[in-house]
Amino acid sequence: MHIDTQGNPERVAVVGGGIAGLAAAYRLKSAGYRVTVLEKEEHVGGRMHTVERDGYLMDVCATHLSDNYTHMKELIDTIGLSLEYRQSSAEVGYMREGTVHRLRLNSTWDFIRTGLLTPAAKLTILRNLGILIRDLRHSGKRARWYDLSGNVKFDTENSQQYARRVLGPEVADHIIDPFMAAQCGIGSEHVSAADLLFAMSKYLGAGLFATGRGIGFLAQSLAGQLDVRHGVQVLEVRESAARDSVELTSRRSGGPAERDLFSACVVAVPSRAASEIVPDLTDPQKEYLASVPSEPHIRAFLGLQHAPQHETATGIMLSRREHPSICLISFEHNKAPGLAPEGKGLLGIYRRLEWNRQYWEASDEEIAKQTALDIESLFPGMCREIDMTYVHRSLPSLSWHPPGTIAQLSKFSESLSPASRVQFAGDYLAVSSTNVSLASGEAAAARVIENLGGLH
Ligand SMILES: Cc1cc2nc3c(=O)[nH]c(=O)nc-3n(C[C@H](O)[C@H](O)[C@H](O)COP(=O)(O)OP(=O)(O)OC[C@H]3O[C@@H](n4cnc5c(N)ncnc54)[C@H](O)[C@@H]3O)c2cc1C
Repeated sequence: MHIDTQGNPERVAVVGGGIAGLAAAYRLKSAGYRVTVLEKEEHVGGRMHTVERDGYLMDVCATHLSDNYTHMKELIDTIGLSLEYRQSSAEVGYMREGTVHRLRLNSTWDFIRTGLLTPAAKLTILRNLGILIRDLRHSGKRARWYDLSGNVKFDTENSQQYARRVLGPEVADHIIDPFMAAQCGIGSEHVSAADLLFAMSKYLGAGLFATGRGIGFLAQSLAGQLDVRHGVQVLEVRESAARDSVELTSRRSGGPAERDLFSACVVAVPSRAASEIVPDLTDPQKEYLASVPSEPHIRAFLGLQHAPQHETATGIMLSRREHPSICLISFEHNKAPGLAPEGKGLLGIYRRLEWNRQYWEASDEEIAKQTALDIESLFPGMCREIDMTYVHRSLPSLSWHPPGTIAQLSKFSESLSPASRVQFAGDYLAVSSTNVSLASGEAAAARVIENLGGLH
């Protein structure tokens, strides 16, 4: 137990009840601190949240969890939830000229025998396999979940250029571009090769896991063990002049601003929000946070009267040749039983950024109608099966690193003092991923524990 001068456990605030904040709060509470999580929404989870409608459980932002999410799996074990989670099908589909080719993410054999690529394309991969393995090993060893700086050497080209140079144009167009669009929401030509190698080194070769209660279940379970204040918007987080406490200003919806003192604080909100509420950040730090892409994402869900029997993959990715705006159709009911009512199907449709920007102001009805038409054009007859539609909008959503910006990210991360009473966590410290946020939350909690422990 960590005791303050009055004999009470030291109080630590966590701003943001997304997975970064909740993981930080859980670790701090386990270390004996009195932790308060302040969350502006009425629900926890942030971008790791599930919405229920007519018996369908929809993972509205994050949806796929990789077996390589070691930090997440460890936390799930620690809180006794391992039995709730199960392996999903590791099968993903890629559409080429209207045909779906299925591959298991954890099977090299599937990549060798797939009809998705021509023999010439496979030969190109084989020819450059040494380069790919060397680069993946480098990324796997040097880039940590919450620190991308180890990948700075790949930041000299974009993901498409890297893919074309090392894997050839077919792989670049039919596999890498839709893969990166599903990861970042944007075409591979806009994303640094450092992000591509991070994603490949972390996700390839591993399966997926899920729970039938939806992805938000982890956040809900953590929150159940914590003191979470909902509907509280934090306005300012400031270290005191004497550097012996943190002053936090917040407001409950409609109420007056309130001030409170804590021994330390973990700021676990998206990049722009962090730059707005922490005035002590330097101008270059604020500029960096403001430069992190913050773009809209619209996810349309279609509930189907019958799960399509022929489709066993958890998702089908589409190149721009197959569809101009849809990059991934997630077959949510294949992740785990329980996400759709018995026998029914649930599709989640991901679009590229240009479409999301164009339709951001459109009504839910218009988006659902357009989505149904697009799905009908890809899978004739499916439209007749629709018995539920739901549209979710997120802003901020996914982010990425434009080529040439990893050095700025590293500089930003290095400029944050590990000894400060205000620590930061969130996916903007590496890439958009629940495991990145969770790991960064745990790392921020560890720094707070070290700093406060050092004061006793
Ligand atoms: C469309 C989409 C698809 C994705 N797909 C996947 C996927 O399949 N797999 C995967 O692993 N990851 C995926 N991600 C990424 C993943 O969802 C995020 O990286 C991760 O959930 C971010 O967690 P976080 O805690 O850092 O931030 P958030 O989840 O954004 O949490 C921040 C919290 O802070 C709160 N907050 C903000 N400002 C304040 C304030 N001033 N005061 C109080 N509270 C505040 C917010 O309400 C929010 O709850 C996806 C993301 C999106 C958007």
